Amino acid sequence: MHVAVVGAGVIGLSCAVRLAEAGHRVDVRTAALPADTTSAVAAALWYPYRAWPPAAVTRWAARTRDVFVRLAADSDTGVLLCSGRELLRSAAPLPWWADAVPDLRRLGADELPAGFIAGFAFRAPVVDMSRYLAWLQGRLESLGGEIVIRRLSTVDDVDGDAVVNCTGMGARELVGDASLVPVRGQVVRLANPGLTEWLLDEDDPTGVTYVVPRIDDVVCGGTADEGADSGDEDLAVEAAILFRARALVPALRDAPVLSRAVGFRPTRPEVRLEREDGGGRPVVHCYGHGGAGVTLSWGCADDVVSLLDRRH
Ligand SMILES: Cc1cc2nc3c(=O)[nH]c(=O)nc-3n(C[C@H](O)[C@H](O)[C@H](O)COP(=O)(O)OP(=O)(O)OC[C@H]3O[C@@H](n4cnc5c(N)ncnc54)[C@H](O)[C@@H]3O)c2cc1C
Repeated sequence: MHVAVVGAGVIGLSCAVRLAEAGHRVDVRTAALPADTTSAVAAALWYPYRAWPPAAVTRWAARTRDVFVRLAADSDTGVLLCSGRELLRSAAPLPWWADAVPDLRRLGADELPAGFIAGFAFRAPVVDMSRYLAWLQGRLESLGGEIVIRRLSTVDDVDGDAVVNCTGMGARELVGDASLVPVRGQVVRLANPGLTEWLLDEDDPTGVTYVVPRIDDVVCGGTADEGADSGDEDLAVEAAILFRARALVPALRDAPVLSRAVGFRPTRPEVRLEREDGGGRPVVHCYGHGGAGVTLSWGCADDVVSLLDRRH
């Protein structure tokens, strides 16, 4: 088939690669280049966050984790496999997605910084998006796929035997999906003083805090403001992020700021991954991955290929 994929974030590119690998001819149509998408802002730690429903998310996340573990063996991909800790201020059951992580364990008392009473340790993929999106694009092009800059006003606005809609927040306008809510996230990237372990403190009463070392820098966050729409970096918010991150990891105290970014997590009650056949050709929707688009990308891409290959 000739398949038009709409969107060149991590979801569109992953779907495009898998479709091309399955033998389809693939064109990507996108309003923005990969480096200018929400995906480029992601931290991007493998971690199911603000994405539902639980059973499907756990399955997609497990599948994606397996693929990233393999990709981490190739340094060109920008994928790393890193140990890390999630720190908790109150006792908690195992995370609902624990089945997706083979080595998840509870932290011992000697592994908890002051102020924390519980937590989990596990190895998770960290995806350096400054390299990975370019790698995905190169992989797609090596399979004969191409990316063309074009904003669509409807899914009928493109040639092809089938369409795959991977427009993230853009689906609100493209297919009129009012259930999508942007959850604003702000990050600041620091020079890496030699960190290799990621840290997550999700229940700091003053704001979620994460420290994610990548190849050339450390991504510090964050914020999760539902419905907020300012795309400008707020320096007061950044100062608060830096304060929390440096309290958690004192080695960051003198690390200079390299860059900053804001993005909008495309959040919805459930990820929309379904096929519609009403309009004369199949349209597969794959959007609404909230704060976990990277974490779910390969699992969802595999399901998109299966849905398209399904006979009517
Ligand atoms: C601060 C922050 C931190 C995050 N951290 C993580 C993390 O640690 N781990 C994780 O897994 N996830 C994380 N996320 C979430 C992740 O970034 C998103 O879930 C993911 O980027 C969604 O990918 P996407 O491809 O669906 O959307 P996008 O990256 O937004 O891509 C959508 C694409 O569709 C195109 N498009 C939209 N409308 C149209 C149209 N009408 N016509 C043509 N093209 C169109 C856009 O140009 C773009 O190419 C984070 C997000 C933020 C903001």
